[in-house]
Amino acid sequence: MSAKAKGLLLVISGPSGVGKGTICRELLSRDSRLAFSVSATSRPKRGSEKDGVDYYFLTKEQFLQAIENDEFLEYAENFGNYYGTLKAPLETLRQKGSDIILDIDIQGAHQVRQATDEAVFIFILPSSLEILKQRLIGRGTDSDESIKLRYALAEQEIAHAKEYDYQVINDNLEDAVKEITAIIEKQRRKLF
Ligand code: ADP
Ligand code: 5GP
Repeated sequence: MSAKAKGLLLVISGPSGVGKGTICRELLSRDSRLAFSVSATSRPKRGSEKDGVDYYFLTKEQFLQAIENDEFLEYAENFGNYYGTLKAPLETLRQKGSDIILDIDIQGAHQVRQATDEAVFIFILPSSLEILKQRLIGRGTDSDESIKLRYALAEQEIAHAKEYDYQVINDNLEDAVKEITAIIEKQRRKLF
């Protein structure tokens, strides 16, 4: 990662289905200084996802080749698929001076923590596991097997929430977005 950091690096993690994507979309639509770090993944596209917007969709072979070429800042395997942050597009956003949001899992967050002390880490929590299950089912994009895998991992992931700088409960979406907006404003003031 380049030494010259002009903007914030905001790492957002939380169990699958907690609302990370929804929150990120809201934040991005309200604040033009924010940019989303588009991850690469070997998982299949779901719903209306678009290549280059939601993810860079790679085959498993392409992903493994990119690992081999040292193209990732971090990567992890989740639910049988690979996910990772490509260094090149992240660097382009950093050079533009954007405040960048990374929606990555706890393993990826751990790797970013090792790579830089500049990032701010936010963990999104559900108000209950039952609500989380309802959201995973209600999203209507995953197979029963995928939902089971995602839900089974949730408790383990939530145990890592305390390693993050901030914990935000996504009960009411608007409240969660406002809370994160306040965190971003606070961190921006620290940069000056
Ligand atoms: P993640 O990116 O963490 O896997 P999503 O953003 O895809 O989660 O959200 C999972 C589902 O929960 C979606 O159907 C979304 O519309 C819904 N959702 C997100 N936040 C809330 C909220 N605060 N209240 C109710 N439903 C929500
Ligand atoms: P989904 O399949 O629901 O889009 O994402 C599954 C999980 O992968 C989520 O926890 C999400 O945060 C994580 N994820 C998405 N992109 C990345 C990435 O680039 N790196 C890592 N480590 N995890 C990611």
